[in-house]
Amino acid sequence: MEIKNGIPVSPGVAIAPAYVLDSESFRIPKRFIRKDEVEVELKRFSIAREQAVAEVRDIRDSVHSVAKDEVGLIFDAHLRMLEDPMITREIPEKIKQKRYTPEYAVSRVFKKIIKPIKEIGDSYFGQRVNDFYDIQKRLLRNLLGQQGQNISKFARKVIVVAHDLTPSQTATLDKRNVAGFVTDVGGPTSHTAILANALGIPAVVGLGTMSSDVSGGDLMIVDGKTGRVLINPDEATRAKYEAKSESYHEREKRLADAAAKAERKTKDGSAVNLYANIELDDEIEHAVELGADGVGLFRTEFIYSKFGAHPTEEQHLEVYKKAHAALAGRVLTLRTMDFGADKYAAEVGLEKEDNPFLGCRSIRLSLREPQLLVTQVRAILRCATLGPTRMMLPMIGSIEEFRAARQIIDTVKQDLAREGVQHRADVPLGMMVEVPSAAVCIDSFLEESQFFSIGTNDLVQYTLAVDRNNQYVANLFKHTNPAVLRLVRGVIKACNAAKRPVSVCGEMAGESHFAMLLLGFGLRDFSVGPTSLAELRTLISRITVAEAEAFADKAMGIGLADEIHNLLEAEVERLLPSSEFG
Ligand code: PEP
Ligand code: MG
Repeated sequence: MEIKNGIPVSPGVAIAPAYVLDSESFRIPKRFIRKDEVEVELKRFSIAREQAVAEVRDIRDSVHSVAKDEVGLIFDAHLRMLEDPMITREIPEKIKQKRYTPEYAVSRVFKKIIKPIKEIGDSYFGQRVNDFYDIQKRLLRNLLGQQGQNISKFARKVIVVAHDLTPSQTATLDKRNVAGFVTDVGGPTSHTAILANALGIPAVVGLGTMSSDVSGGDLMIVDGKTGRVLINPDEATRAKYEAKSESYHEREKRLADAAAKAERKTKDGSAVNLYANIELDDEIEHAVELGADGVGLFRTEFIYSKFGAHPTEEQHLEVYKKAHAALAGRVLTLRTMDFGADKYAAEVGLEKEDNPFLGCRSIRLSLREPQLLVTQVRAILRCATLGPTRMMLPMIGSIEEFRAARQIIDTVKQDLAREGVQHRADVPLGMMVEVPSAAVCIDSFLEESQFFSIGTNDLVQYTLAVDRNNQYVANLFKHTNPAVLRLVRGVIKACNAAKRPVSVCGEMAGESHFAMLLLGFGLRDFSVGPTSLAELRTLISRITVAEAEAFADKAMGIGLADEIHNLLEAEVERLLPSSEFG
């Protein structure tokens, strides 16, 4: 049994065989061939190896022709590796004797080559590991040809193991049969993590080299609460985790029962609204069943992967109509497209940037390519005839940006009126507060924007200079950093004083201990992943505003992120004791 620890991003316990995708999403299942297939499969491997050799030669020659000798030498080394007996003899032997498929034989042999080199842990050898991965990928690519795997349909329960999963891959995972997933890279509020939560799939990210340490078919346990991942556990461990999985489901049920009975207000009667964050349109019905008061953040980016990079106005409208139908009169907050960085950048064909999180993402892209925004805004204004609708602009960093977007929206309203198209021109226009410049100067925005929603995922990232996707700095991504807390509190207080609606829609709002703090700062509108609704509803009904305020004051007096965190956890334990909820 092997145990690894990563970053837990979606709770629950999953137990199932591994299904490994490599970084280029090749499938490497543990499969065997029949005796009469051996010759054909040996031939297939031999052709794949020859193709790999030819490709590497081509690269080496083209590099040599521009006189980059050092780089050329790397490819000479790749050629030598492809001629190494480990590859020319051992892989065919595994195909012949063990009857492995060539793909599985390649993955086994490379694992055997790479493991001891990795254990040396030296940076020179580290580079060599990458060379081996490169060759392995080249062989697999040639073996698998164009048959990319389809991860949207599995015949049985699996745990998907990948170097990384793009948000669109995560969105298309077969929800019925993907019991959990683990990735080598990724941070606590990456979009892949948020999607896992939305889908209710236990997930752990930032596991380093997991995708090369596990073979397809290995039995795995994923604990999405602690970040622990176990490979090939013994019987006793497996039984322990089966019990843990059972008690996790019981806890969920107890919380749902408690939430159903709870008042929709604090213990002393202050109304608190809990809205849902939605990633995919088919989640809305479930969110309503779980007690959502409406949608506080609809991340519309998935529409661009569902329909292609340029969805039409009618395609947008189709999604929004479906959302209103599921919401039956509850509010729908549609955020205009927020592409770039980790969100669907590749899918919509965005150019690669050196610093994508600081680059032309989100509202900046909307302003650079206004037609994208115009098409979406037309659909938003039209769908507003079907139910209460709000439009929210992401990543606003300056007043000029907000005004430029509003001008485009005003022009759209005039166009729709001129064309005689049914719409509502009075859709409230709000903004996300997720760039520190907007949080610091919140007073200047109060006259511009009709409502505000604090996006703590980006606000933490930009305030602390910590990439939200990067496992190596995940320990620095702290919602309780005093700088973050001061900004968040400042925005809530300024909005409340000016009577401007304000919510928090970053992941911070969905975690009980942070939610309590936000309540103490004066927040009454929370927008959270649907799976957090029950716990939050229960917790809020058990605390008074005065208690939350006293608690927030105490936390703000501490000034140290980890101490604040510990204090908050102890308070949550008091309100939602393990003795009651497990
Ligand atoms: C945020 O940044 O907190 C937010 C809610 O937006 P997203 O996670 O979609 O970037
Ligand atoms: Mg954001």
